[in-house]
Amino acid sequence: MSVEFQIEATRGSARAGKLITPHGEVETPVFMPVGTLASVKGVSQDVLEELGVQILLANTYHLFLRPGVETVRQMGGLHRFMSWDRALLTDSGGFQVFSLTDLRKVSEEGVAFRSHLDGSPHFLSPEKAVEVQIGLGADIIMAFDECTEYPADGERARASMELTLRWTERCKNYFEEHKYHVPWAMSGQPSAEGGEKQVLRFAQDDKSKDHRNGRTQALFGIVQGGMDPALRRESAARTIDIGFPGYAIGGLSVGEPRELTREIVLSTLEHLPSDRPRYLMGVGTPEEIAQYAQAGVDMMDCVLPTRAARHGLLFTSEGKVSIKQARYAQDESALDPACDCRVCQRYSRAYLRHLYASNELLAQVLNTVHNLHYYLATMRTVRAWILAGRTTDSVTT
Ligand SMILES: [Zn+2]
Repeated sequence: MSVEFQIEATRGSARAGKLITPHGEVETPVFMPVGTLASVKGVSQDVLEELGVQILLANTYHLFLRPGVETVRQMGGLHRFMSWDRALLTDSGGFQVFSLTDLRKVSEEGVAFRSHLDGSPHFLSPEKAVEVQIGLGADIIMAFDECTEYPADGERARASMELTLRWTERCKNYFEEHKYHVPWAMSGQPSAEGGEKQVLRFAQDDKSKDHRNGRTQALFGIVQGGMDPALRRESAARTIDIGFPGYAIGGLSVGEPRELTREIVLSTLEHLPSDRPRYLMGVGTPEEIAQYAQAGVDMMDCVLPTRAARHGLLFTSEGKVSIKQARYAQDESALDPACDCRVCQRYSRAYLRHLYASNELLAQVLNTVHNLHYYLATMRTVRAWILAGRTTDSVTT
């Protein structure tokens, strides 16, 4: 068994559930902060725990280049390496490689690309992307897909979708043969007791050995199909035929208008099985993640809260605040009076503005903590709204 998904309540199309992973339970709908290089920039793991983060996302492409999968594998997998005992998800690297427009070449076999760091040549195939993700050892890993560019004509969108479907099947085949090689599946009880390191080396091929709660990683399939609802429907149906414990909607937020994103998300959701987690990749403002959760999305990730925080852009119950503005220079009020995060409880807008204007490291830390709290609180509000089963009022945070 990989992950288990239990739906606790529904309200309209929305669902509140529990995703049970080898590293703990995740309450859904959930927002997953992005820890690109096994780190949420500026925020330590103990603070993430305090914020109530139950699952983090890390990027395969970046970890593949630095520190490399062998290093992470030797350190016992990402959980042990970064000292994070809660759930993790890795993307396949497909989206990052896709964004290296001038540095990549796509073929049937996979994608040849050059590192954005030093120009060194690399190759990711469906098999390699899964092999790397098994070595990294996240609880949920993603099929290697081609993210169709926007705009794309009908012929191109179909060809890209067909390629993703062939790659998806190859990912699943490789995963089924190698899923017991995940670092934490090699030992009995993981965790911090020590003495486990020795076991790691020798138990590698011992498939009879018990692993974390008897579970393995879960491989999710990704629906593509560009901006064509008919292709999305076909992609969903054929990905479901291949069979996965969860399904993602990929290929969005690639430059299309927001309204089109929404239309494609809603039309794709209809075709995904209701008993499996649905993951919308790389989307959203706070308003959007609330709306998508209400529409039936269970999992979302986005760099927006963390990236915006580093640029002094903060999400609050009163709208966006650009903390760099001079008008906050002597503003004694909390960043967001309605927020109960450790930043809003302690510091003034004036101080946050000063930190940002002075380029202090603490500015990035505090801004990121608040924005993450805001996103997580947004999801908790939607979840409470679903569980409460109210019928008239809409969700606000
Ligand atoms: Zn706050």
